[in-house]
Amino acid sequence: MEFGSFAAHAADVEATDADLDVVAKVAALFGEAGDDLAVVARFVQGRVFPAHSETKLDIGPRLCYEALARAASTNVTVEDVEDRLAETGDIGEVAANLDLGGQAGLGAFAADSGDDDLTVAEVYEDLTALAAAEGDGSQDEKVTLLFGLFNDCSGEEARYLARLVLGEMRIGVGEGAVRDAIAEAFDVPVEAAERALQVSNDYGLVAVTARDEGEDGLDELHLEVGRPVQAMLAQAGTVTDALDEWEEAAVETKFDGARVQVHWDGDEVSLYSRNMEDVTDALPELVEFVEEHVDAPVILDGEVVAVDDDGSPLPFQEILKRFRRKHDVAEMRDEIRVELNAFDCLHAHGEDLLDEPFRKRHERLRDVVDDDSAVSEILVTDDADEIAAFEERALEAGHEGIMLKDPDAAYTPGDRGKHWLKRKPDVETLDLVVTGAEWGEGRRASFLGTFVLSARDEETGEYATIGKVATGITDEELADLTDLLEPHIRSEDGQEVDLEPAVVFEVGYEEIQTSPTYESGYALRFPRFVTVREDKPPEDADTIERVERLAEQQG
Ligand code: AMP
Repeated sequence: MEFGSFAAHAADVEATDADLDVVAKVAALFGEAGDDLAVVARFVQGRVFPAHSETKLDIGPRLCYEALARAASTNVTVEDVEDRLAETGDIGEVAANLDLGGQAGLGAFAADSGDDDLTVAEVYEDLTALAAAEGDGSQDEKVTLLFGLFNDCSGEEARYLARLVLGEMRIGVGEGAVRDAIAEAFDVPVEAAERALQVSNDYGLVAVTARDEGEDGLDELHLEVGRPVQAMLAQAGTVTDALDEWEEAAVETKFDGARVQVHWDGDEVSLYSRNMEDVTDALPELVEFVEEHVDAPVILDGEVVAVDDDGSPLPFQEILKRFRRKHDVAEMRDEIRVELNAFDCLHAHGEDLLDEPFRKRHERLRDVVDDDSAVSEILVTDDADEIAAFEERALEAGHEGIMLKDPDAAYTPGDRGKHWLKRKPDVETLDLVVTGAEWGEGRRASFLGTFVLSARDEETGEYATIGKVATGITDEELADLTDLLEPHIRSEDGQEVDLEPAVVFEVGYEEIQTSPTYESGYALRFPRFVTVREDKPPEDADTIERVERLAEQQG
């Protein structure tokens, strides 16, 4: 498929409002995609590689602006690109109007002339090469490759390429639309496509299987040990919610650590973070534990927690010093002890357990792990007092609180459904995306100081501002936060800085108020910085819907 044709389809979808029409148009695109179907099924969502893949593009905004500036036909600088972006707020719009393709001796619009048309396969090939670039000089290599692509692009192609590489496709196609489009294009039931996506986590694979092998082919897709699954997520909720909905609740400790998915095929253990990053090398004692105490093949879900010499849990910050660590793993292993708390079993002995009720899966978990201390204890009860007592014990032991789970619910990957509730004992904090900042003054002039916070709009996938936070941050933290945020600067205007959504702050506050000042329609009273949620991507930040619910609960 020509990339120009993909871009034309994308533009058509972007101009479409009704969900059903979007699905029909994406289905038509899939029907025309031919050999490029797998890639197109990802591109349309602004994704280059499968969600479970270890390959990442790793292109920061500046790198993209540099490639664009180089490919622009007149003397356009990175600053010009930033200025235009500050005006339009859409890198696609900037790219589409840059008059690309005049560089390196090629005639402008070379891509539009006959055989030179850029194809989806070529774009994918170059982006794969770009993702593989590492080590000294890799940044230059990436800019050069991306420049080459932009240089071959027409304006409309550049619009969607720029958005694709920055992960900002935003043509209104979410995961549900892609699932429905696969079902419509290849005449398979939506449920079969959904199940296949849950087990494979790969839109490209599911689209191609649906087209080439139909429903039977989709049914043949299973969990694979070594291919991470999206984690099932929890909502905030109360004991009353749980007992009203389910009659009985399974109560569990909420461990204050990092989510870990354990894959063990008998030869090799792989550990994945909540974002499906491979963190195996950072946690050698977990690997050893699994090899020694767990049957294979299995896929387990759990939480890894840092503990002191007595086995009592240490604060969340401690596990972050171990999780994802690439250097000095052995030294840190001596310094900070970590333990596994497994709470679910998704696959055991060749059998997928996703559709089994939680209580059954928990029994299987007990069967496959021969050390009870690594298996989370559950209490299944309909008695609120028993739940309160369990919670008190969990808090006394130094844990974060409790989880309430529907004992009869299936495991639904990637779903923040109503079957898992997290109950936090104190006022709920919010996890908000940092979308802007201001440079400080005087002594703090070289640090970003005030941070603009945004909540996610589930419908549009956009981020809407809800307030600013400047309190609760030490000078030392300011320096760290500046280092963390600086690579994500999109543009600057005086002291004000626009940031791409990348970093999530946990924020405390006294009250939520309605407010005309911010895009979300809400504002936080006395917001205070708690910590950086390094384990959370912006897509998992709290939503405006949750803010609304919390505001309502305040009365
Ligand atoms: P939050 O990160 O605040 O949205 O809370 C959900 C997270 O709590 C999950 O992603 C897990 O990492 C963590 N967690 C801790 N204990 C449990 C448990 N027993 N069951 C499920 N998730 C847990």
